[in-house]
Amino acid sequence: MTVQQQEVQHFIGGKLTAGEGKETQAVYNPATGAVARQVRLGTATDINAAVAAATAAFPAWADTPPIRRARIMLKFLELMNEHIDTLAEIITSEHGKVFSDAKGEVMRGIDIIEFACGAPQLLKGDYTDQVSTNMDNWTMRQPLGVVAGVTPFNFPCMVPCWMFPIALVTGNCFVLKPSERDPSASLFMADLLKQAGLPDGVFNVVQGGKPTVDALLSHPDVSAMSFVGSTPIAKYIYEQGAHYGKRVQALGGAKNHLVVMPDADIEQAVDALIGAAYGSAGERCMAISVAVLVGDVADRIIPKLAERARTLKITNGMNPEAEMGPIVTREALERIEGYIATGVAEGATLVVDGRGLTVAGHEQGFFTGGTLFDHVTPDMRIYREEIFGPVLSCVRVPDFAHALELINNHAFGNGVSCYTSDGNVAREFGRRVQVGMVGINVPIPVPMAWQGFGGWKQSLFGDMHVYGEEGVRFYTKQKSIMQRWPQSIEKGAEFAMPTAK
Ligand code: NAD
Repeated sequence: MTVQQQEVQHFIGGKLTAGEGKETQAVYNPATGAVARQVRLGTATDINAAVAAATAAFPAWADTPPIRRARIMLKFLELMNEHIDTLAEIITSEHGKVFSDAKGEVMRGIDIIEFACGAPQLLKGDYTDQVSTNMDNWTMRQPLGVVAGVTPFNFPCMVPCWMFPIALVTGNCFVLKPSERDPSASLFMADLLKQAGLPDGVFNVVQGGKPTVDALLSHPDVSAMSFVGSTPIAKYIYEQGAHYGKRVQALGGAKNHLVVMPDADIEQAVDALIGAAYGSAGERCMAISVAVLVGDVADRIIPKLAERARTLKITNGMNPEAEMGPIVTREALERIEGYIATGVAEGATLVVDGRGLTVAGHEQGFFTGGTLFDHVTPDMRIYREEIFGPVLSCVRVPDFAHALELINNHAFGNGVSCYTSDGNVAREFGRRVQVGMVGINVPIPVPMAWQGFGGWKQSLFGDMHVYGEEGVRFYTKQKSIMQRWPQSIEKGAEFAMPTAK
């Protein structure tokens, strides 16, 4: 399987297949604007084939001892480590993010694979001796069956890795529906899983858009849906999944704030804001898109932010000098630049205008520069809505209480950060803020593999975060067994509710 493959197909039952659907969609290299390849758009028939392959593989896979499942994962881990650069190159060529960032994404995916290699420990049940005389009771966790993952364009390797390594080692079979905008990383990982010895049918990939997702949602043999993407679709997946009786975790969009307190180290705060707002061209669910500037901070920090935003090195992500690459598609670029026009119309001060950037040698690429707004207010659309691009909005507030109130009133609650040197402010912030993932002097607090990832409010629908122990719980169901043996059973039917004897 190579990056140059002309048509991105499905991977069903251990084989690449063009499937039933004849339609294809262009996949671009965003740095050049050229069509790099075509992706097949799957149909309900293709989903049915993938679910059938997974259903057939499930009994033997669920019966495979967890340590043997973990050994396959360990082999997969080794292969992933060997191919970090190739995977990163695939990601940069279809997403546009800079190569070092793409490598970082692969490595954060690898963290989850490492965590999943501990499956035997993660699946240990608990046991109570003598719950009643001569009777014991224990619980164990068993796989759900066939589970599905629907993933966004912005992390084509890491986000699937939030899901399938844990689903697989806990004994489930998986159908992945990656983003149609950068689909190749999914097939590369499918190939590595096969090389690692994963039995055919345990992991399947179906490419496509809404019809494939709808077919997964309504399929009676799909037990659970994991989704990561924008809020309207997350909500739809949650509602439809519940309607069809599935277990659902659906992670949505974000509008992450970074508070700069007057006692913060301003240079550190500038570095944090520039990296977190413009890294990956702002196309991260944990990107910082709002700077909350407390007291006199705004006048001290905005000139420094403006200088850095104006001088960002923006070019093809494969250029080692690049700090920021292009936007994923032309439509996304137009949406982002449309928001900048909206911000101007709403009365925000446009300090740095990134629109209309042309990169020499890449004239057809989907580039925009870093944009900086000052005097943004909570009623503006550029404050309320997710732009998902390199646009940083500064909101000025008089004090800490106003900063907290602003954040807690926002509809999203994915990530947040506070820069301060005051321990009490840090503690109060961590306790009172209504957001799922908090950084204190950490701009992008993406939790490690064993901690679990998830936002609050409109950023997550469902009650469990992805990966970590919550991931293990999501992909398994608890069974309780009570046991005694004939020699210890007293004669006679019991009509009262049994109690401990
Ligand atoms: P998206 O919602 O457009 O697409 C996500 C997935 O849903 C894709 O696989 C897509 O094919 C599918 N999809 C799109 N429209 C659909 C529809 N009408 N019905 C059913 N399925 C549909 O998101 P995107 O643009 O690929 O990714 C960016 C979004 O993802 C941003 O909002 C970002 O904040 C969010 N995101 C969130 C997290 C998180 O952890 N909360 C992580 C990464 C990205």
